Amino acid sequence: MKATLALRDIRAAHDGITVLHGIDLDVRAGQVVALLGPNGAGKTTALRVAAGLHPAQSGRLLLGGRDVTGADPRDLARAGVCLIPEGRGVFPNLSVRDNLLMMTFTGRSRAEIEEIAYARFPVLAQRSSQAAGTLSGGEQQMLALARGLATDPAVLLLDELSMGLAPLVVAKLYEQVAEIARQGVAVLVVEQFAAAVLGIADHAAVVVRGRVERQGHPDGGLRDELSALYLGSSA
Ligand code: ATP
Repeated sequence: MKATLALRDIRAAHDGITVLHGIDLDVRAGQVVALLGPNGAGKTTALRVAAGLHPAQSGRLLLGGRDVTGADPRDLARAGVCLIPEGRGVFPNLSVRDNLLMMTFTGRSRAEIEEIAYARFPVLAQRSSQAAGTLSGGEQQMLALARGLATDPAVLLLDELSMGLAPLVVAKLYEQVAEIARQGVAVLVVEQFAAAVLGIADHAAVVVRGRVERQGHPDGGLRDELSALYLGSSA
């Protein structure tokens, strides 16, 4: 089966300094792929390249087998690529409902978007008139995911979903992410701390200093090697 999203030998730079040195990654529909690595390894840059928000110096970005290298991020979004950035990207002063309402630009009705959101995250229905900024961190992340789902994504890119959240909350969020993938979405998850996501990931890649040092099934010894890979990176 063709990968829904593929990065082929992607190099990318910040201010002329190369930070990704040839990243290869495949994410298939229905799969959760974890992109792990220490601080500054290049994970966020790789996600931004995948969303068309950061240019690749070389290499190719493929969507459903089609070469979309250099495509405008709006065109990639229209083709089903949805990035949920670190920090969640919800509007804190707007209510839950209005945060969802903004997603009607996708062509879906408000009712449909709310139905999808509240079916997956019932607590959001209870909080619908509450300002997003007053939700708990986990609820804000649910709202961010619900906004992403409103775009009917083919590819969901999640940056540090666990940031600042209690392990139990993270575990619950990842159960939902796994469920979203099971419905046919290709999910690429960036995390620095791997424990929660490895439980649901079908495949994991560890990036260290802009290179994939190791990839494979999360059970295949990769979990045990992580600390050595991370420690090695700071030496
Ligand atoms: P983190 O978990 O800290 O976000 P990361 O693995 O996502 O780490 P990136 O944010 O992709 O890593 O950063 C990769 C490298 O690029 C780092 O050395 C970082 O300092 C550098 N970098 C990232 N963003 C910028 C920027 N806007 N300007 C200059 N350098 C940057």
